Amino acid sequence: MANFLETDIKFLKGVGEARGRLLASEIEVATFRDLLYYFPFRHIDRSRFYSIAELEGQDLPAIQIKGHFISFREDGEGSRKRLIGVFSDGKRMMETVWFSKIKQFSTLYKPGVEYVIFGKPSSFRSVWSIAHPEVEIYDAEKPPTGFRGVYSLTETMRKRGISTRLLQTLVGNLCSHPLFTSLKETLPAEIIRRYNLMPLKEALFQMHFPADMRSLQRATERMKFEELFFVEAHILRYSMERGAKLPGYVFPSIGEKFNGFYFNVLPFQLTGAQKRVLKEIRADMKTGRQMNRLLQGDVGSGKTMVAFMTMLMAVDNGFQAALMAPTEILATQHFESLRQWADPIGVKVALLTGSTRTRERRAIHEGLLSGEIQIIVGTHALIEDTVQFRQLGLVVIDEQHRFGVAQRAKMWSKNRVVPHVLVMTATPIPRTLAMTVYGDLEVSVIDELPPGRKPVTTLLRFDSNRMEVDRLIVSQLREGRQVYIVYPLISENEKLDLKSLEEGYKRTCETFPSFRVCFVHGRMKPEEKDHQMELFVSGQARIMVATTVIEVGVNVPNASVMVIENAERFGLSQLHQLRGRVGRGADQSYCILMSKAKAGGDTKKRLAIMTETTDGFLISEADMKIRGPGDMEGTQQSGLAFNLRVADLSRDGQILTRAREAALAVLRGNPALLAPGCIPTEPRPGDLTPITVSNEEREIIARELSLRFAKTVDWSQIS
Ligand code: ADP
Ligand code: MG
Repeated sequence: MANFLETDIKFLKGVGEARGRLLASEIEVATFRDLLYYFPFRHIDRSRFYSIAELEGQDLPAIQIKGHFISFREDGEGSRKRLIGVFSDGKRMMETVWFSKIKQFSTLYKPGVEYVIFGKPSSFRSVWSIAHPEVEIYDAEKPPTGFRGVYSLTETMRKRGISTRLLQTLVGNLCSHPLFTSLKETLPAEIIRRYNLMPLKEALFQMHFPADMRSLQRATERMKFEELFFVEAHILRYSMERGAKLPGYVFPSIGEKFNGFYFNVLPFQLTGAQKRVLKEIRADMKTGRQMNRLLQGDVGSGKTMVAFMTMLMAVDNGFQAALMAPTEILATQHFESLRQWADPIGVKVALLTGSTRTRERRAIHEGLLSGEIQIIVGTHALIEDTVQFRQLGLVVIDEQHRFGVAQRAKMWSKNRVVPHVLVMTATPIPRTLAMTVYGDLEVSVIDELPPGRKPVTTLLRFDSNRMEVDRLIVSQLREGRQVYIVYPLISENEKLDLKSLEEGYKRTCETFPSFRVCFVHGRMKPEEKDHQMELFVSGQARIMVATTVIEVGVNVPNASVMVIENAERFGLSQLHQLRGRVGRGADQSYCILMSKAKAGGDTKKRLAIMTETTDGFLISEADMKIRGPGDMEGTQQSGLAFNLRVADLSRDGQILTRAREAALAVLRGNPALLAPGCIPTEPRPGDLTPITVSNEEREIIARELSLRFAKTVDWSQIS
């Protein structure tokens, strides 16, 4: 059977050498299997007529509706002008919209004539509409043409005569191949039964040639489940190893340092969320297994304090702890705060960065080796081989996405037993995604800001409001506050109509002549960059003109205004990060999103989200919905190493949950599927009981896994 699916596509009736090569190079369809899994990206349903009432609550493909036009009117001005036709199916009304050729369409369709309109319906404020529908006069004699898939094709394919119609024929040939009927199910029978899934053969056929809407939905659900089941099985077959293979230090006691700090030094009350996360961490420290925890918390939520108190748990048990930050400025800032907290309880903290002088560096190396230095803060410099510890028990990594996977792995090799790892990030990865990307990595969330924070006032402003914005800046500067002005990155060869950073700097200096302005961008030499940053951190410079290099972690509580130029060029999560640089003190802060007056509807909607909420989680989810998960910073950074073809993590959270639960049960029931040397973890309360499958089913799963993930990274290395 494997042979049938792995047959070279050129042997399919209607393909041959030349088309075979084209399919392989253009859309990576090299085998029968590839073609079967090359699903239409949308479907058109001409199998029947829909009523307008039926549209409610559905996400339908292009469909047809029979009825007549009632009236036409024009709306909007200039480039936003459009023609709206009111269309009735005899019971209810909807709209048809044209953005071009308005004159022509406004007189083309006659009232009283029965038409069929065709297109993808969408609704806005409970009014349904179809943009630029295809319109035909209704012909009672003409039979419905059915329900068909539309395939995505490249320009080259089109030029060389490969159309959607041809692909339909080819897939049709494949499905009527005598061997197609003997195609084997990929999922265990027990899983198909338990989740009431459409069997594989039927689902593949229905994906390409759905009988109706319902069958298409069932087929899609099945294919999504299958895809996510194998993704989860792939991650889990490695990550179960962690529980089995990686023992961890046990920190049994909360001791003198922790308590001394908690009762005598801690300058504020911990938030409920900070306390909860500390409890979660504490529980990890007792299991005897290595902790691998992602700590997610919005900017300003107080992750550093949680990190410090976790470090004290290590210190109290005779271990050392390290805090790694992605930049020298950040490392220095962390060092300053940690030292303030650690000095009164007699814990020794040191700072090691690229610019630490040789003599001092040598002393630090000695202090780490002897154990005299209990906490070390630093940059990549900590990873160097010359840095050795007496007993490293915990590594905290701040703003994880700036570190590569390999760099992190190197830190662990400094011990025989792998230290506990706490990764802190302010990029709120939606839970569904975190689960998929990290497998068994535990996630803690600080979902509460320290009390008394004033939410940052966020304003959307346009070039025509420039004077008003300048006035706000001056008034804040006069009150002694500091200001960030951020520009998007400009690549030199793009002729974008962006004001360049240099121009912005010049303009800023001219507009605010009595205040010192500093200037930072990514292409600067590190020393120069640090120097400019230092001017701002120390308060000598009152305005910083910068690109997004300041995005991560800088803490200047006196800064109260963040102006973001060409805000439409940034992703929402990035805007949120930038906004997090202000609002760190007690006074009211402002974030001003500068955009073009002519920004389109979508851009305005996107930016409006920023003015409406300061919840990083909501913003991240909105961002993911708008841009798709593949585009999300968090995804790229954490290396989601496979493409999802049918499933969409921003929408299919429920299917993902079920697929994961199923994959766990199957792996636990069939340890032979685990990566070499791995042992299944015990079911936790609420988990499915392990599912044992037949030998044949197990072999099919193993083959699917190696087929699907042969080229991807080893997940056990991910964190
Ligand atoms: P982030 O999570 O963005 O790294 P920080 O750890 O830098 O946030 O904390 C932001 C500020 O809030 C710091 O000045 C910190 O001392 C302060 N902070 C942290 N926890 C609390 C708390 N429970 N109550 C009051 N202030 C706090
Ligand atoms: Mg931080």
